Amino acid sequence: MAVPILLYHHIGTPPKAGIPGRSNYVTVEKFTRQMHVLKRIGFQGLSLKEAMPYIRGQKKGKVAAITFDDGFLSVYQDAMPVLDELGFSATNFFVSSRMGLDNSWDNERSQRDKIMTFDEMRDWAAHGHEVGGHTLDHLHLKDIPLEEAKHQITENKHQLEKELGTSIISFAYPFGDENEAIQSIVKNAGYSFAVTTVKSRAHGNEGDFELPRHSIRRNDTILHFLAKCLLR
Ligand SMILES: [Zn+2]
Repeated sequence: MAVPILLYHHIGTPPKAGIPGRSNYVTVEKFTRQMHVLKRIGFQGLSLKEAMPYIRGQKKGKVAAITFDDGFLSVYQDAMPVLDELGFSATNFFVSSRMGLDNSWDNERSQRDKIMTFDEMRDWAAHGHEVGGHTLDHLHLKDIPLEEAKHQITENKHQLEKELGTSIISFAYPFGDENEAIQSIVKNAGYSFAVTTVKSRAHGNEGDFELPRHSIRRNDTILHFLAKCLLR
C-alpha cells in the first residue's frame, strides 16, 4: 500500500499576505484537526524510519510518515503535544549551524522564526520522535561545489550525532535540491534514506534516496489533506 509522507514546516499563525513562505504555515488548530482525522480513519502517524518497513512492503498496515523540515521551535511547542497525545511519532530535519537561531537562509522578506536549541532537539528525541539531517547551513546543494555539498551533509550528520549520542539515518534535501551526485554523497555519509519534495505518496519503488513527500499547505482544506493521504 502506498504510504503518504507528509511535509510540514511551521506550526502557527501565518504571516500576512505577500510574505514569502506564507503557505508553509499551518495553524495549530488545523494541524490538530488533521492529526485527529488521520487517527479516526485508522492511520498511525510514524517517523520516517518507523514508516520505512511499510514503504518497503515488509510490514502491513495503514501508516502515514509525518515529517517537519528545519527544526522550528513552534513544532516542539505546539505540534509535539498533539503527536504525543495521539501516540504518533514524527521526524524533524535539523540545520545544525542554526540551532537556537532562526531561518535566516530563507528569502530576506520572509518571516524569521526560532529554531529549537540542541536541548530542545534532545527532548524531541526523548519523546520518541526522530532527528534527521538537513545540512549545516541550508544551502542549495546543486549550486555549490560537490566538495562543499559533502562537507554540508557529513558535518551536519556528525554534529547532530554528537549532540544526540546516537546515529541518525534519515536526511531531507534543503529546498528539495538533489541529483544523482548529491544522492550518493548522502548515501556514502551513512544515511539509510532521504526525502525530496516530489509530490506523491511513496510506493516503495522510488529508491531510498528519492522518497516523495506531500507538502501540507496553509490553505489546504481537510479534503485536500485527505486526498494527499489517500489518493495522490
Ligand atoms: Zn528546509
